[in-house]
Amino acid sequence: MQIAVVGTGYVGLVTGVCLSDIGHHVICVDIDEQKVERMRKGISPIYEPGLEELMVKNYEAGRLNFTTEHNKAFKDADVIYIAVGTPQQEDGTADLRFVEQVAIDIAENLQKDAIVITKSTVPVGTNEKVKRIILEHIKADVKVEVASNPEFLREGSAVSDTFNGDRIVIGTESEEAANTLEELYKPFGIPVFKTDIRSAEMIKYASNAFLATKISFINEISNLCEKLGANVGDVAQGMGMDDRIGNKFLQAGIGYGGSCFPKDTNALVQIASFVEHEFNLLKSVIQVNNEQQRLLMKKAKERFGSLKGMKIALLGLAFKPNTDDMREAASIILSEELVKEGAEVIAYDPISMDNAKKLLPEQVQYAGSAEEAVKRADVVFIVTEWNEVKEITFTDYENWLEIPVIFDGRNCYSLEEARKHRVEYHSIGRRSIY
Ligand code: NAD
Repeated sequence: MQIAVVGTGYVGLVTGVCLSDIGHHVICVDIDEQKVERMRKGISPIYEPGLEELMVKNYEAGRLNFTTEHNKAFKDADVIYIAVGTPQQEDGTADLRFVEQVAIDIAENLQKDAIVITKSTVPVGTNEKVKRIILEHIKADVKVEVASNPEFLREGSAVSDTFNGDRIVIGTESEEAANTLEELYKPFGIPVFKTDIRSAEMIKYASNAFLATKISFINEISNLCEKLGANVGDVAQGMGMDDRIGNKFLQAGIGYGGSCFPKDTNALVQIASFVEHEFNLLKSVIQVNNEQQRLLMKKAKERFGSLKGMKIALLGLAFKPNTDDMREAASIILSEELVKEGAEVIAYDPISMDNAKKLLPEQVQYAGSAEEAVKRADVVFIVTEWNEVKEITFTDYENWLEIPVIFDGRNCYSLEEARKHRVEYHSIGRRSIY
């Protein structure tokens, strides 16, 4: 099939590349000229394992192309994906300006019948709005169907998730469009769930809200474990053996971040409020997460009183491992608060340092390696559990620091291991080791 993908961010580029890899002809369009220029040179504008190789392979095979011109992208397209950002506005609602602009672009440039698919995460009712906008602005005498096809990939494993997803959700009122999409996705061999447009839009928000709830739930349990002398790792393992609960997403830590959970949970609270529903459960999930992101800072203050003049190494800055995405990362809040307390922050991340420099306070210093960051510090905060960070042993810490004091926000080590070494080790939902 001839496919156009609008937006080449984490979702658009991965979708375009993977669809070209299963044999479709894909043209990706983005308004960011620099991004398009880089992709044409074989450079992926984002870090995502396996993406660049696959992008180059399909570009060279002539199945994948990039442009800044919407008319070029839409000219021959049977299917058009909208995969632009829907960032959070100040009041928590999703900003739909980019999606609406794309709907106008499509209407003005469409020359043949097409199915328009929204992959961006959008509030319930948006696909109907997209259709309205297209019909208002359309120039040619062509038929347009719309479908909601929310995206469930995870950054850090986006390519693998696209090939091995749990389900593909298709929401549309057109049986013809649903069948075409099912056909388009067939080579992936992933179960397809067909529903109406509004339910498909809601599935995305409900899924993210549920996952965020699971994280905040185990984090609250971890806070209780600390006060009651229990070990959250064992508690989660024991809980997870119950099939009704499941063992995934029960890892206590310093909360969720990234471009999706924070904005989508806030958006769903707003969506609910527009139909006069107080989503109290989700509001608590958000509040718990906001506090959890500051937890290492709170623990360090309880331990030392003042952090003024202390040198603190932040290991890992991205919101999770294997991505360069810094959106809503805990490192932002932590470094802002540490700087406010008068601490010196020495930051290190294997991949996201360039993005971090745009978001962290200017007082933050950067190290060329984890070892350098630790050696320049008095205290270590483990923020993101990159393999490179997890591979640092307590023996390394003993060699690098006179008195290693580690605040581990991702429970990278066992308490047994900590007890064998000359380290002070504070983690989440477990006893501190002195
Ligand atoms: P992103 O910010 O990484 O990329 C968006 C891209 O769209 C940018 O490159 C931007 O230049 C481009 N763009 C904006 N307006 C355009 C226009 N008129 N024409 C062409 N290009 C345009 O965004 P993302 O992280 O890929 O997210 C996209 C959507 O997918 C969001 O709604 C998000 O909530 C959703 N989503 C994201 C993820 C994720 O892990 N990032 C997962 C599932 C769903």
